[in-house]
Order: sequence, then C-alpha cells, then structure tokens
Amino acid sequence: MLTARSHAAAGGGAAAGPRRFLISLAQVWWTVRLLQTAAPGWSTAWLVLLTAQGLLPIATISLIRLLVNSIAAPGSGRDTGGLGSLPPLPLIALTAAAMLAGEGLKSITEWVRTAQSELFQDHVSALIHQKSATVDLAFYESPEYYDRLHRARSDAGSRSLVLLDSLGSTLQSSITLLAMVAVLAPYGLALPLILAASTGPAFAVVLQFNRRYHRWWEATTVERRWLHYYDLMLTHGAAAAEVRLFELGPYLEAAYRRLRRRLRRERLVLARDQGGARFLAGGLGIAVTGGAVAWMAARVTHGTATLGDLALFYQAFSQGQGLLRALLAGAGQLHGASLFLSHLREFLNLEGQITDPIQPRPVPTSSHPGLRLHQITFRYPGSTRPVLRDFELTIPPGTIAAIVGPNGAGKSTLVKLICRFYDPEVGRVELDGVDIRQLPVRELRRMITVLFQFPQYYTATIAENIAIGDLAACPPRAAIEEAARLAGADEIIARLPAGYDTLLGKDFTGGTELSGGELQRIALARAFVRQAPILILDEPTSFMDPWAEAAWLERFRELARGRTVLIITHRPTTAMYADTIHVMQGGQIIETGTHAELLARGGLYARAWREQHPACTPEARLIGGRT
Ligand code: ATP
Repeated sequence: MLTARSHAAAGGGAAAGPRRFLISLAQVWWTVRLLQTAAPGWSTAWLVLLTAQGLLPIATISLIRLLVNSIAAPGSGRDTGGLGSLPPLPLIALTAAAMLAGEGLKSITEWVRTAQSELFQDHVSALIHQKSATVDLAFYESPEYYDRLHRARSDAGSRSLVLLDSLGSTLQSSITLLAMVAVLAPYGLALPLILAASTGPAFAVVLQFNRRYHRWWEATTVERRWLHYYDLMLTHGAAAAEVRLFELGPYLEAAYRRLRRRLRRERLVLARDQGGARFLAGGLGIAVTGGAVAWMAARVTHGTATLGDLALFYQAFSQGQGLLRALLAGAGQLHGASLFLSHLREFLNLEGQITDPIQPRPVPTSSHPGLRLHQITFRYPGSTRPVLRDFELTIPPGTIAAIVGPNGAGKSTLVKLICRFYDPEVGRVELDGVDIRQLPVRELRRMITVLFQFPQYYTATIAENIAIGDLAACPPRAAIEEAARLAGADEIIARLPAGYDTLLGKDFTGGTELSGGELQRIALARAFVRQAPILILDEPTSFMDPWAEAAWLERFRELARGRTVLIITHRPTTAMYADTIHVMQGGQIIETGTHAELLARGGLYARAWREQHPACTPEARLIGGRT
C-alpha cells in the first residue's frame, strides 16, 4: 500500500560502491536544487562569498612568503617587481588587511548562511506539512509510514544544515586546495600527490563510519518512535489523569530509560570505534607532513631554497593537508547528510491512490443528491477481513437515512468510503448515479459535511472552531452564530468568559476547557456551518444527556431540511427520527424500515429498543417516533 516513486534509497545495502556514489551525488544535486528553490538570491551570494573565502588563504600565505624573504634577505632581489620589492612594513599591513578581509568575509558568510538555512528549513517543513496533510488516510494504517515520516522529520532540521555546511566547506576547501596545489607544484609534482595520499585513510574512515552510523540510525527508527511515544505519554495533558491514577509514571519512565540506555550504549560503541580509526588515520597524516618538511629543510640547508620558501612550503603543505582533510571530511559529511536526506526525498515522493481522475466528470449540482453504495466489498489496508461485503445502501435525494448497529458493524467505515478517504475493493459509491471516483476529490469532499465520531478540537477560539467547517467560504459571524444555534451550542457559548472569542483548550493563556457533550455541540455547529448538500452525522448525540438529546432531536428534521442526510447512531431514540432506518451487522444491512415497521418486525432493532425501554408498551413505543 505504501508506495514511493521509484528511486533507490541512497546508501541502500545492496548498492555497489560506484553505484552508491552516483546515488549520493544525485541526492546532493537534488538537495542543491531544493536549496536554490528555497533561497535563490541568498544561495548565489553564498557561492560568491565562499569562492572569495576559498582564494583568500592563498593571498595570505603568498604575502607571508614575501614578508619572510624581505626580512631574511632584504634587497636580495629574489622577489623583484610588484609586491616583492616592497619593504616589510607595507607587506605586514597588506597581510593584516588580507587576514582582516578573511574575518569580515567569515562574518558575512555566517549571516548569509543563517538566512539561507532558515529559508531552507522553512521550505522543507512546508513540503513535509503539505505532504502530510494530503497523503491518503491509508498511509496512516502503516507503521512504515510513521517510520518514514519520523525519519523525514528528523532529517529536515538538523541534516539540511549539516548538508549546507558541508557543501560550503567542501566548495571552499576545493578552491583553496586547487590554489595550494598550484603553489606547491614548483617544488615537485609528487608533493600534491603525497598530500592527497596522506589524507586518503582519513576519508575512508569518514565514509565508512557515515555508512555505519546511517545503518544504525535507520535500524533504530522504531525505537526512537517508541521513545517519542513514552515521552508524549509522560508529558502530555491527554494522558495525565490516567498516568496519575493508575501510577503509570514509573512504568513509562522505566521503559523510556531502558530504551535510551540501549541506544546510548550502541551509539557510544560507534563513537569509540570511529575515534580509534580517526586517530590512526591522523597519525599517518602527521608522519607524511614531518617527512615533507624535513625534505624541504634539507634543501634550505643545501642552499637550493630560501627560508621564505620553507615558510611558504610549510604553510602550504600543512594547511593543504588540513584543507584536504576538511575537504574529504566535508565530502564525507555531504555523503552522510545525503544518506539522511534521501528519507526526506522518499517521503516527499510518496504517492497515494486516492487521486483525481484523468478526465473528471462535473460534480452533480443538485442541492440534495442521491447517494448509493453499490455492491461494496472493502477491507482496511493490511487487513484480511472484509469490513463490508456486497454492501448495498441507497439514500434517496433529500431524505434522512439512519444506520444503527452494534459496535464494529462497519458504520463509520461507510463515512470514510463516501468521503473517498478509501476506495472500495469491489463496487462503487455513486452520487446522483455518478461513481465518485470520476469526480475531482476536492470538489467531491466539498459536497459533504461530516460530524465525525471523534471530532478534532483545535486550540483556537470557539468561533474559529466552528468556522473551520468551511474555511474556504470564510463564514461571517452571523453564520457561525446561526450554526451554533442549530447545534444547540449557543447557550453554552453565551456562558463562556469571552463568548465566541474564548480560546478552546488550556495549552495557552486564557483558554478554557469544555465537557464532552459541550464539545460535541461545537463540532456539530462546525458540521452545520458548511453549506454542503450531504450531511453525515456519526453519533451526533453520543455525549448528549437525554434532555439535550430530546430537545435537539425535536428540531433535527428542520435542521436537515433540503439536504441528503446520513445519521449513524447506536441509539434507536435518535434513529427513529429518520425517514428510513437501516440496521447493520457484520458489514451488511440486515433490516430496513421505519421505526414502527422495525419494531413490528421484532428483529435486532426491536430487541435493542426493548432493552433500552423495558417498561414501554407497544403503543407507547410509537409515541414521538415517526411511524
Ligand atoms: P462503533 O459502533 O464501535 O463505532 P462501527 O460500526 O462504526 O463501530 P467501524 O469503525 O466502521 O465500526 O469498524 C468496522 C470494523 O473495521 C471494526 O471491526 C474495526 O476493528 C475495523 N476497523 C476500523 N478501522 C480500521 C482501520 N483503520 N484498520 C483496520 N481495521 C479497522
């Protein structure tokens, strides 16, 4: 079910060396393009600054060479013409100016880099948010999806910065290094090669440990998600009451600590091995530098080179080695970050199956379209058991249908199919005779308003919590108040300190909490504010007290007028206000009729009614109900 556009994950275990390298390069290129899209102007400025910073060290060490020569043998004429003929003092001033320029460039680059990374992070977060808000609901059925989301999210912030830094340092080091090689070449062409060879082992260590760390990090995604879960349970208000009453705190803490201890131990082993290998590789580099400097010192002793040459050589060689190491480390980090960012790319490439048709049909324009679920068989992703089998239901235009049935019968699943959160395996949902898969998904959903069984409440004002039902239409205050009145929420809101402007939830200052039944009225108002021709209410009265339920149901038919309505409920007292009641069990409709007809039939509905109203005579049962 979870599909991603095919591109091999960088660093995949099976990929061979060169192939892996090419994948990493492609990954880096993808990130560079993303960077260019996120912060085009800043990226250009960053490039220019890095180039300038890359060239500046060459200017500095050339000036130092001239300075040493002019101090050691003033007027020797070895560096004649141009800056070479200057006395020490102006050369000192020029060297200081070059160093100052270096510092200035560093500060400006830091500022540019901050702006660029902020923009980049915001851009990546926006892409993740857009993707998360639109992927198929089916993705949420899969632990694999959560793993991917977790990996993509943890990459977005830290890894993109690492990538940016390593890209910058690699670029800058490459420029300086090329210039250093040009400076060293006159002393022997073998020197640049020795330089490269001395840093090779360090590079190999970096690459190897990048891959090892990445493999470990990938393999422990599930553990880190567990940590996140324990942390949430311990710190979030939603679980706070049960955590205290059932004394879950120590249990959750222990589970968290156990997992952290294991991850910490594994991480430390990795760090220890990496440290040892780095030490050996560094030792090799120092030995090579020592040998090269000794060779140059011997040349000075024999008079074939000047002290200035020795100073330049030492600077160029040791800086060159440092640079090469920085370059290779930067390239290693780039490789590492690209491994991590491949998860972001993979996440952004996730493709759902609930998509618009290639040639969509226009949505029905009727103000109360007919709804039909025809021969539907459906099972949830990853499940073998069909929730609905050959399911058939017709709701004529402008009528109220109720679905009643025991827990797990498949009632709420119908809502998900009508809204096209899922597509059925077999059969189709029709709107005025048109298969909803032939309609543009957004326009189809705009035709439907739903009170979900477990609505979401937002940390926003009450008015906003209602207006959320139709943000596109930006409902005016009068429409919000009318929806609240229809839902029976107006009196509750009137009692709140700031009325419609009261903040819901206690996460922020000034917020207030409402009871379950009060919240349900707010959610009901949200469903009403959306002027959609199809109204679906999943357990609209489950939290209401009997008095509120009776009062609300009295007005219900008026509220529903002019719309096609599906009401899902456990309560016959709610269902009996519908035009037709369908009794559902085991994924199928087993009884259909009006309240009176179903009571007369003596089936499941009648039994449920009798159990809730044991003292009712058959005559009393019909009072208040639609017969
Ligand atoms: P209730 O009256 O308790 O709300 P319901 O009739 O609305 O139940 P559904 O929520 O439609 O029942 O669930 C029908 C069946 O589908 C149940 O057996 C449930 O376990 C299963 N089910 C529901 N959601 C999922 C899901 N996301 N993945 C797998 N199975 C699911």
